[in-house]
Amino acid sequence: MFKLTNKSVIVTGGGSGIGKAMAVLFAQQGAEVHIIELNDQAAADTVTEITTAGGKATGYACDVSNQQQVVDTFTKIGKIDILINNAGIAHIGRADNTSTEDFERVFNVNVKGAYNCLYAAIPVLKNNGGGVILNTASIAASVGITDRFAYSMSKGAIHAMTLSVARDYLHDNIRCNCISPARVHTPFVDGFIAKNYAGREEEIFEKLSKSQPIGRMGKPEEVAALALYLCSDEAGFITGTDYPIDGGFITL
Ligand code: NAD
Repeated sequence: MFKLTNKSVIVTGGGSGIGKAMAVLFAQQGAEVHIIELNDQAAADTVTEITTAGGKATGYACDVSNQQQVVDTFTKIGKIDILINNAGIAHIGRADNTSTEDFERVFNVNVKGAYNCLYAAIPVLKNNGGGVILNTASIAASVGITDRFAYSMSKGAIHAMTLSVARDYLHDNIRCNCISPARVHTPFVDGFIAKNYAGREEEIFEKLSKSQPIGRMGKPEEVAALALYLCSDEAGFITGTDYPIDGGFITL
């Protein structure tokens, strides 16, 4: 079950956190993984981890917000069976204190970055007779997390993008879904705590963990397991859907 033998998989932001866990798991399931990263050292480290374990992986230094870089990189990769739009950044702020620069920076990576990857990948998927697209959104899209104005908006766009793509390519054998994690313990979260609560890291980590209904943060590997299912042939009847993975955040 859930084998990805010889599937060519692109994971954006695959050098860290959730994307890295996806890259490692997908390679374990037989995929050839292509890691698209702004941080080329993080990509190289993930590639080493995968290849040392006997898997297939290549890293590419590429900023998803730059369409030419994305097109050039995807052309280099060639075959694509699965695209995971996962790279993302956050910003703390409300509508009245988010600068235009910060707003655009978040949208350039989280929304335009995903669009750039769709633009480059969809013609390849169509030519191949189909494929799978999975987008990493966030519960922020459904609940509007406090002080995350631009971020929540950008993830709402990912929800709509998922529906639009799923509908447009339904008859090209391309499935498109998204996943919406609540807080997952990754460098993204550690960086946020270190930057905003220096000296209170442990206390804030505890507080954030307890703020999840289930009493802890998610693990990147738990998110990767859901992603694997949604990208596998076993999920062939699933498209145009958002999957919260949130320890009960939305419902409890
Ligand atoms: P992370 O910071 O650990 O990893 C993100 C990776 O994306 C980094 O390696 C970074 O270098 C890369 N990246 C950033 N901008 C890029 C760009 N322009 N081009 C290419 N690569 C770029 O983050 P994470 O926690 O693993 O988050 C991954 C995704 O999950 C993001 O979209 C995030 O919004 C989403 N998410 C995270 C959480 C959480 O609590 N960690 C919750 C909900 C959703």
